[in-house]
Amino acid sequence: MSKNWRPATQLVHGGTTRSQHGETSEAIFLTQGFVYDTSEAAEARFKGETEGFIYARYGSPTNDMFEKRMCMLEGAEDARATASGMAAVTAAILCQLKAGDHIVAARALFGSCRWVVETLAPKYGIECTLVDGRDLANWEKAIQKNTKVFFLESPTNPTLEVIDIAGVAKLANQIGAKVVVDNVFATPLFQKPLELGAHIVVYSATKHIDGQGRCLGGVVLSDKDWINEHLHDYFRHTGPAMSPFNAWTLLKGIETLPLRVRQQTETARRVADFLAEQPEVAKVIYPGRKDHPQADIIAKQMTGGSTLVAFELKGGKDAAFALQNALKIARISNNLGDSKSLITHPATTTHKNLTDEAREELGISAGTVRFSAGIEDSDDIVEDFARALKSVKA
Ligand SMILES: *Cc1c(COP(=O)(O)O)cnc(C)c1O
Repeated sequence: MSKNWRPATQLVHGGTTRSQHGETSEAIFLTQGFVYDTSEAAEARFKGETEGFIYARYGSPTNDMFEKRMCMLEGAEDARATASGMAAVTAAILCQLKAGDHIVAARALFGSCRWVVETLAPKYGIECTLVDGRDLANWEKAIQKNTKVFFLESPTNPTLEVIDIAGVAKLANQIGAKVVVDNVFATPLFQKPLELGAHIVVYSATKHIDGQGRCLGGVVLSDKDWINEHLHDYFRHTGPAMSPFNAWTLLKGIETLPLRVRQQTETARRVADFLAEQPEVAKVIYPGRKDHPQADIIAKQMTGGSTLVAFELKGGKDAAFALQNALKIARISNNLGDSKSLITHPATTTHKNLTDEAREELGISAGTVRFSAGIEDSDDIVEDFARALKSVKA
């Protein structure tokens, strides 16, 4: 195993350990526990004097391969695989905070992430200030004496705005706070938050990492010291561990991540360019297009575009529904990063619980649509959009 391997190589071989059978594909160790040859061996394992597993809630061989492979890809020292993306986010935030602490978070967050910081954390005496994360001055203004964590997602869901991760990290370092980045939309291939100065990265592995719509999963990555001090015990005792079966599924998924993301990005870019020319479309937001409002930050911190496109139809909700209903290949679904193209109308689905005002703040209008490109032939996808748009009146 070499740290210098490029991602496509790391993702096929990284972290692999083989049993005495020398299997080609990673094995699933679907076991809750582990046995010890002697009482002395059990004692030594529990004291931490010998390496090895103790109980699947703490760690297990298939999960360990997945965690190591993710560490290689991310350039992180250590990781914990969780049962879902939300288990990863919740663990990453709560494990390091106590009553009296304060979070500053960008308000453009995945719905459940926003609930964790806005509703759950305050129940335990952890305050949160939500800011428009696009402007660094807003982060600075929100800092309090007790600010311990900055939390953000970039690009954001669903409007694909970006946040200057290095800029936020610089502010956090001045006050000794930690930056947690939810890197789902960028994927680990196009953005490396740790290199940009963030301290902790979280993923919903449910998205591009599985990429084939099968299982939930998540992962928290950071340096060894932070994991040992904050996450290690929290993870062991609160039990958000990933199922070994899902760890195996995700290991197989991650082998093809670069191939899938490359194809999805090419299709998304073609769809964005096509939509930008259509009279029914008011606006297209696509990281990688020159007209993205924050193209300068994208050039600084991302090495690729996006597998998602956000766009606004002039005809509002009726037009959005008509387009979605007319598409034959893209399926209507709130998921993303799948090998199947998916499309969603945020105002009536993922963001329906926000007030009209909160949606407006996030740039979500009645005509906003989010498209997640799959791995189908991009000619078919663009042709499908061209045909379906005919049922939409400008
Ligand atoms: C899906 C998603 C999550 C939550 O992940 P689950 O695996 O569904 O729990 C968190 N953040 C972002 C940005 C997501 O897209």
